[in-house]
Amino acid sequence: MALPSSCPSCNEPLHDRSANPSLTVEGMSVIVCGSCTCMATEAEPGRVIDHYRARVWGGPPRAELVERDDGSIRRIDADAERNRLEAKLQALRAALRVGDTLSPSVLEVGCRQGAFVEAALARYRSLRVTALEPWLPWRDAAASRGVAVQASTVESMDAGGFDIIAEFDLLDHFAAPAEHLRALRQRLAPGGHILLGVSNVVECAGSTFPHKLRLDTPVGFTRAALRRVCAAAGLSAAIWEDGRSLFAVCERGDPVVHDVSADAASSLIRRLRENDGRLLFKRFLADRGPTPAALRAAVKVAEGCRTEAGHRALCVSVAAACERAGDHDEAARWRERGRTLPAWASQNVA
Ligand SMILES: [Zn+2]
Repeated sequence: MALPSSCPSCNEPLHDRSANPSLTVEGMSVIVCGSCTCMATEAEPGRVIDHYRARVWGGPPRAELVERDDGSIRRIDADAERNRLEAKLQALRAALRVGDTLSPSVLEVGCRQGAFVEAALARYRSLRVTALEPWLPWRDAAASRGVAVQASTVESMDAGGFDIIAEFDLLDHFAAPAEHLRALRQRLAPGGHILLGVSNVVECAGSTFPHKLRLDTPVGFTRAALRRVCAAAGLSAAIWEDGRSLFAVCERGDPVVHDVSADAASSLIRRLRENDGRLLFKRFLADRGPTPAALRAAVKVAEGCRTEAGHRALCVSVAAACERAGDHDEAARWRERGRTLPAWASQNVA
């Protein structure tokens, strides 16, 4: 397997490795596109059905994993799961607001066990919802909840003319995501909207290295990368962030897109590295406690951060460890440190 030669989101060549050298993560190469900050891994092209199936090998969607106080990455609990479902329903509300149909037809692509369809129908009774789920055990589970579901991919489906096509945590499984988005676009009604939810690679960064960047997710999206892949499929996207997820409501369009700034890709790489370092340090603190030696080391790590977000996240993690150990004064100092930009940042401003 090899890294793709062009970016899966914006299709610009990825060959200029000297500008943005690939990272090696668990023996696998990862590269960040200098034009749109899409992250790409060594993916096998695979058949369309394999990309849907990769969700099964990958277990719960990345957005359903959460970083705990001890730095471990685990499945979200019932509360967090409800919040996540609520975020999807709010995203659906945003898509319903921009549409003008009284009883819109909704298609969910890759509905898993049907939880979103069930919740959407309970909240918005005027919807007419159908769903697709090619993985049979999930299809059966969804059908047993009363969801109208077909065991099919959108690519092999004949029907079309949907007012809203919703899809969550599927796009980053496709080695050629723009092609998949074009398949969604073809099945929209005139004036219809596509609602997308994907993992926000920047926010998942702490859990990125062991969990996010794996062979079952060949692509990682930032906001800019998601905008570019939508544009490549002839879609104009309104994008917002909700914690570890990015949501987009898209309509047909030919938006003007620009390359990201020259240092955006390298600062994303720095951010990912810093977040990974933070996570290791958080585990160390959970294990040993915030001893004086550990806190001296934390000062060094904080001084080594070169991104504002990385610096802030580290300080918050150290403060939380101090709080758990009952040292509230030290915790307050770390919270304050997190609010104050380090010396290098003020130099950059000048
Ligand atoms: Zn790109």
